[in-house]
Amino acid sequence: MAYFDDLSPHTYLPHARDWGRTVLSVGWLDASHEHRTGPTPEDFRSALLRQCTKEKYRVAQTRGFHRCNLPPCDKSEFWPPITVATAKGEIPLGSAEIRVEAKDGVVFAAPNLIYHYVIEHGYQPPDDFVEALCR
Ligand SMILES: [Zn+2]
Repeated sequence: MAYFDDLSPHTYLPHARDWGRTVLSVGWLDASHEHRTGPTPEDFRSALLRQCTKEKYRVAQTRGFHRCNLPPCDKSEFWPPITVATAKGEIPLGSAEIRVEAKDGVVFAAPNLIYHYVIEHGYQPPDDFVEALCR
């Protein structure tokens, strides 16, 4: 998967809905770059889960699955993809992006694998992103 600094302009797989908006990257992590870790609020985590697993929120769907390369996941097999358990069954992560709009109109673009990063790797996204999902 491509790596982008948090809050850098998002240029990966632009989506039609993004036209004319400021779109910033969040959660494009890679083992070769540092990322912020720390606690995240419970309501943020549940909002993020909804966002990452509901069909209507997913954009820029790709055919393949990106895998997590952060340790210890880097040693896992390419298949099966990382999944998350929901009421509707196992949902695969890593083949789509989500968009989250902040109140100032800025749009955040994240891989839906971000849920895995937060839950399994303690990734702490930028405060503006956390706030945008919690409001
Ligand atoms: Zn991982």
